[in-house]
Amino acid sequence: MSASAAFQVLIVGGGINGAGVARDLALRGVRVALVEKGEFGTGTTWASSGMIHGGLRYLQMDPEVTQHSCADSGAIQRIAPHLIFRIPFLMPVFPEDPIGPELVEVGLEMYDRFQPLKNGRPHTRLTREQALRLEPALSPRIDCAFSLDEWGVDAPRLVALNALDAAERGAEVHTHTEVRELLREGGSGRVRGARVRDRLSGEERNIEAEITLNCTGPWASQLAALAGAELRLRPAKGIHLVFERRVSDVAIYARGIDGRDMFTFPHEQNSMAGTTDDDFYGDLDRLEVTEDEVRYVLEAMDRSIPGIRRHRVIHTLAGVRPTLYGFGLYEDELSRDYAVIDHGTRQGVPGFWSLAGGKLAAYRLMAEDASDRICAALGVEEVCRTADTPLPGGDEWPDVGALARRFRTDWPAILRVAFRHGSRAARVLAARPRPHVVCACEPVTDAELAHVARSEGLGKLTDCSARVRLGVGACQGAACAGAAAEVVGEALGWSAERAAAEVAEFAGERWRALRPALAGSQLAAAEVHRAVHRGARPWSAPPPGTVSRP
Ligand SMILES: Cc1cc2nc3c(=O)[nH]c(=O)nc-3n(C[C@H](O)[C@H](O)[C@H](O)COP(=O)(O)OP(=O)(O)OC[C@H]3O[C@@H](n4cnc5c(N)ncnc54)[C@H](O)[C@@H]3O)c2cc1C
Repeated sequence: MSASAAFQVLIVGGGINGAGVARDLALRGVRVALVEKGEFGTGTTWASSGMIHGGLRYLQMDPEVTQHSCADSGAIQRIAPHLIFRIPFLMPVFPEDPIGPELVEVGLEMYDRFQPLKNGRPHTRLTREQALRLEPALSPRIDCAFSLDEWGVDAPRLVALNALDAAERGAEVHTHTEVRELLREGGSGRVRGARVRDRLSGEERNIEAEITLNCTGPWASQLAALAGAELRLRPAKGIHLVFERRVSDVAIYARGIDGRDMFTFPHEQNSMAGTTDDDFYGDLDRLEVTEDEVRYVLEAMDRSIPGIRRHRVIHTLAGVRPTLYGFGLYEDELSRDYAVIDHGTRQGVPGFWSLAGGKLAAYRLMAEDASDRICAALGVEEVCRTADTPLPGGDEWPDVGALARRFRTDWPAILRVAFRHGSRAARVLAARPRPHVVCACEPVTDAELAHVARSEGLGKLTDCSARVRLGVGACQGAACAGAAAEVVGEALGWSAERAAAEVAEFAGERWRALRPALAGSQLAAAEVHRAVHRGARPWSAPPPGTVSRP
């Protein structure tokens, strides 16, 4: 190995897996760099259901995946207690269901054995009347229902916290930085880092490292090909619908026309419904949600929640699961297991490794496994500390009442800051003398925006959706993007033109997320509003990623 490499490990891909490994290695004192071509966590991780569960669906075929996901969920709850929330589920049983209540209960009894690992309660069988009293949104056609207990997390924020912690412990982390080419040694073909391009400035440079780790999720086969290695995945697209408000108090299982299990669940300030799971061979950088997919999800939900179509869908999410390759199986039957691959021993490409597959719920454990193996290859003896070392803000829940009094700001806004920043909430709020709410839907304060711009390496206004949930609520940025650009622009020294272009790009991104959920007169009205709004602006939207620095 080259003793002169600037870094011991270069990680490509700042989704949950790349950020998780960066933190693990940084905690062990390894010199590590992490590059992400967009904003942290905006690949598959952003599009996930954000559940740190065992996955009832995998219990039958993949009990080990259920076991390690439940165990890791317990660890994530320990290190980021501020960022998680309980999601109680109801699973209705209908008279026509092929699997009756007795059999359903056998499955749930098996799942109960794993519940203590993730601080979950055992299931309960409810009569029709009890279930309807508990959740009036449920269909009155049910025979009975079962309760089960799951947990959710703000997934992109979990990525940001891992990356932030890695940086605070010495890692070099860069967003909007894309690997275009891998550096190879002439004779041996060893990969010794990568040539990267800063997508905001256009500047290119080399990052040298002894080991380059591919954590690019569904893009992993493409990056492996740059190294002359092969990594076979079975990528599968999944979508979610996001509703303006909570559709139900608890999460509700539903069944698609093809029998697939889906659910509607309360998530942060909204409800989400999903998901689909279809083999995907398209362009990973241009994922579109189709009207068909929207109708498929609504159709499934309608059976369990007959009033669901009365609720407004405010945006859609699409992502591609980096599922490990399997032939001859339906998408749902594919294993959710993961693989750590040393392409040197497997394919004669030394210096190049991949971490692929898996689940958000088991990210920390996957990162530990990958880091153990990489450390063994590097001769590093430090052991993993991520299971018990709190993520930034995870050491203590702040006194929200005292913060509200000190900063003279409303409780809901303070609570959201506490949720995202935990014990660091006071430091975040102190970024402005008198914090006020910029995005009312979420709500997001100017202090939080100024803080993440100055202290968390924010690159663009669009980054704020994943970083602090700006513009993902009912107004989809219409009411807050301009004001937010002022705050972020002031912190980062943007010119007026740059701020205007950022707002235009933000609006374009939100429109692409909303457009598939609209039809008929709703679509016509939205297009008229959009045209009027655009006509009133003194700029036109540049294509994403082309905004130049002032
Ligand atoms: C619809 C859906 C729902 C899901 N729900 C759940 C759930 O509830 N619970 C659960 O446990 N799991 C869930 N999953 C699975 C989970 O989301 C994934 O396992 C996980 O997010 C994968 O993370 P990753 O870091 O491997 O990939 P990603 O999050 O995709 O990260 C890869 C990153 O690499 C970057 N990248 C790619 N190429 C380059 C390059 N050349 N240079 C620099 N950067 C690059 C990308 O921009 C991206 O950000 C779900 C998945 C889907 C699709």
